[in-house]
Amino acid sequence: MLELEVALQQILAALPAPVGETVALSDAFERVLAGPLTSAVDLPPFNNSAMDGYAVRAAEVTTATPAAPVRLSLRGRIAAGESGDLEISPGECVRLFTGSPLPRGADAVVMQEDTRLEAADRVLVCDAVEPGESVRRRGTDVRRGDLLAEAGEVLNAGKVGLLAATGVESVSVGRRPRVALLATGSELREAGQPLAAGQIYESNRLTLAALVRRAGGLPKLMPLVPDDPEATRSALQSAFAECDIALTSGGVSVGEMDFVKAAFEELGGQLQFWKVAIRPGKPFVFGRWHDKFLFGLPGNPVSAFVTFLLLARPVLRRWQGAKELALPSIPGVLAESLANPGDRRHFMRVRVDDAGQVFSAGAQASHALRSLAAANGLVEVPPHSTLAAGTTVTVRHWD
Ligand code: AMP
Ligand code: MG
Repeated sequence: MLELEVALQQILAALPAPVGETVALSDAFERVLAGPLTSAVDLPPFNNSAMDGYAVRAAEVTTATPAAPVRLSLRGRIAAGESGDLEISPGECVRLFTGSPLPRGADAVVMQEDTRLEAADRVLVCDAVEPGESVRRRGTDVRRGDLLAEAGEVLNAGKVGLLAATGVESVSVGRRPRVALLATGSELREAGQPLAAGQIYESNRLTLAALVRRAGGLPKLMPLVPDDPEATRSALQSAFAECDIALTSGGVSVGEMDFVKAAFEELGGQLQFWKVAIRPGKPFVFGRWHDKFLFGLPGNPVSAFVTFLLLARPVLRRWQGAKELALPSIPGVLAESLANPGDRRHFMRVRVDDAGQVFSAGAQASHALRSLAAANGLVEVPPHSTLAAGTTVTVRHWD
């Protein structure tokens, strides 16, 4: 049985190098950048006003107070979007709005609230300003040539905004893996169908589809696969025909009704390993079929969920070239003790609140879906040990 980290290393080492594709910036949210991006422009691109007000020479209004305002003559007006081809001479000011280009000769903006319009062409300035006040100077945010984002970074909303502001239209990002979702088990039924005795509704494909999408992959739901060697073979075949990765659930244990490993090998697939020393999720299978991959998750919904997060999610991130592969880790303090009497590392479902208090999400059995739905993280509890209330732990967080 492999240690989790060894298993993950083996999987990552088998993956192809990320492939880039060009997408419009409007489609690039949450995609992974394939290469570094530098700015072609300065931001702001020109000196402009941070306020609605009047462009002045700061030195001319140093004595201005409400009781003794400084009188300036109004030279004109520059609206946002106008070229601002104006120059102020001594004793003059220019009406500006937020984003208006600063006229030549001006070095500060007096905000409107600190002025009074005395006549159509005369302004009383009632407060002094420092040189540069309320002026957004060219290049103070971004300089032309600055690194905006690096290869492997995920484009969040702010980064998309930064790139848009520098005029970027399209970006090269890592291709997203297509992931076929196969659920094996003759007991499984689709929602909407009546359940006969012994049958249950299938739930792993939708759960995994959500996790795949969150990780940047493209999930494809495949038809249910009964516990039958031929059906399992042909299901895997269709998965590999359409997708990069076959993500199966169920049928990888030791029972005589578990057909995934055998069917995969009959197709010519090479099993790389089976079983990882974790709980839940021991009977995890990783295999390779030409340039495609099999991730065989256990069928129990919680086992499928946890093994996906620990072993398949990093693969989907790496496939796209992401630097960060692991789930975000946040510190927390146990509000109650967590015990693991077993001999495998137990990844327990927890709920961490906004104050960093960590609670067990409920029953930890690997079929228990209520606690999965309540959980937003995993805490690792080592074999044969109890983490007491008050212990600081690392929560692998997914919501
Ligand atoms: P298996 O790994 O095939 O032995 O399945 C273990 C347990 O998980 C059994 O109780 C199955 O009925 C259940 N199970 C397997 N696949 C699914 C699925 N896709 N949705 C819900 N339950 C499942
Ligand atoms: Mg089964």
